[in-house]
Amino acid sequence: MNYDQWKLSNPIDDGYGYNMLSDCCGALMYDDCDICPECKEHCEPIEDYEYEAAKKEAYEEMKADGERDEF
Ligand SMILES: [Zn+2]
Repeated sequence: MNYDQWKLSNPIDDGYGYNMLSDCCGALMYDDCDICPECKEHCEPIEDYEYEAAKKEAYEEMKADGERDEF
């Protein structure tokens, strides 16, 4: 999926609800706890679109690093 498709399918745009994900694994957080259901570690619950944005940022940083390495 390229970025444009990702953006079009982003629930942010249609004002839909969002899920809370753990910031470590991106696992769905069902209730108001701060324990990740995936790794059972303490984690910070974040909105799913925030998680996606952070992931995209990390990816682009990685890509930028890779491009720098080529020169
Ligand atoms: Zn986790």
